[in-house]
Amino acid sequence: MTIPSEPVIIVGGGQSGLAAARAALAARLRPVVLHAGAEPVGSWPDYYDSLTLFSPARHSALPGLAFGGADPDRYPTRDEVVDYLRRYADGTDAEIRSGVRVTAVHARPGGGYLVRTDAGDEIAAAGLVAASGSFGNPYVPTLPGRRDYAGELRHVASYRRPEPYAGRRVVVVGAGNSAVQVAHELAARSTVTLATRGPVRYLPQRVRGRDLHHWLDVTGADRLPRRLIAPLVRRPGVLDDGTYRAAIAAGLLDRRDMFTAFTPEGVVWADGVVEPVDAVIFATGYRPALGYLAPLGVPRARGGVSTSHPGLVYLGLEFQRSFASNTLRGVGRDAAHVVAALAGRLSGAGRRSGAGGAARRARVRGV
Ligand SMILES: Cc1cc2nc3c(=O)[nH]c(=O)nc-3n(C[C@H](O)[C@H](O)[C@H](O)COP(=O)(O)OP(=O)(O)OC[C@H]3O[C@@H](n4cnc5c(N)ncnc54)[C@H](O)[C@@H]3O)c2cc1C
Repeated sequence: MTIPSEPVIIVGGGQSGLAAARAALAARLRPVVLHAGAEPVGSWPDYYDSLTLFSPARHSALPGLAFGGADPDRYPTRDEVVDYLRRYADGTDAEIRSGVRVTAVHARPGGGYLVRTDAGDEIAAAGLVAASGSFGNPYVPTLPGRRDYAGELRHVASYRRPEPYAGRRVVVVGAGNSAVQVAHELAARSTVTLATRGPVRYLPQRVRGRDLHHWLDVTGADRLPRRLIAPLVRRPGVLDDGTYRAAIAAGLLDRRDMFTAFTPEGVVWADGVVEPVDAVIFATGYRPALGYLAPLGVPRARGGVSTSHPGLVYLGLEFQRSFASNTLRGVGRDAAHVVAALAGRLSGAGRRSGAGGAARRARVRGV
């Protein structure tokens, strides 16, 4: 294999970027991770304080390093994940530059990419792994009256802990794990409604005495391609050992159909009732944070490998290749896949540049 002398730039130093770096080293590429945060542990330090993983430790590891700890069946805390990723980064022999944000990526006329950073650097890259997650791009739906609402309105991305909401009237919007977990913890101190578009779909945390992730693994459901699994999980589900369902049934918090509009003081519920509300927290998901790819137009991709921009691959996208793509347990498989495609592409490009650079240039111009 011809090894390109230019690095492969990996944008983002979270689990996706770190898994990519290990896979790239194994493929004898030269990965350089550019990471906006202070240390390469992804967005985990910014998740809310009480967060525990929905998957047990034994099903929450990246390739090459077990999660560790005394009990593999425990559900690790947020801070345990941060420690784990710190250890993973320390054990990864790649160049990692923290505190560097990629601002723009341009295609070079002769192939490869020019990567610009907020430090003013311009780095020539043989290939690019977009592993920048989605936490930097929270999604809040547009609703009538939103701009006039004078109460507290935030996305769950910036929510940390329940204490500041004590005694207040709070609406949490969303029907996924974050929405239900946050609504539940707020309800101990506040009057909370969970606003959803339909009934919450609960998934059992345990089935026949084993965690659900055991069954997703042994049945192969975790590895089914997107086209088979996506129709089954189109609506978000909430992993529940019974706690959340019981809390709603007992009236600790209530669930209502999504409100239709804001008023300056609160919300208008679907039945027309107007109610003053102190705070509305949207747990309505995220969109990939890929603004730095704008100079490339709208790259097309299949399974995380760009079909329009040679040498560009993605990691950590929701349903990129399977149900588990955007998880600690699943991203390693996707990393092996996209890095193999990238290495194949770069070794081919290397051979072509030795044998016939003109042919390569012609093809790149045709993108
Ligand atoms: C609240 C919450 C709970 C979750 N719980 C679980 C769970 O229990 N189990 C599980 O497996 N998964 C869970 N996930 C899903 C997923 O594992 C995490 O979102 C994980 O952090 C994704 O890793 P990542 O590396 O793809 O992205 P991130 O962790 O977001 O890391 C990407 C990094 O890229 C950096 N970056 C972004 N843009 C740039 C740029 N332009 N230049 C340089 N750097 C950039 C960011 O600073 C960020 O640190 C959860 C997600 C959320 C939001």
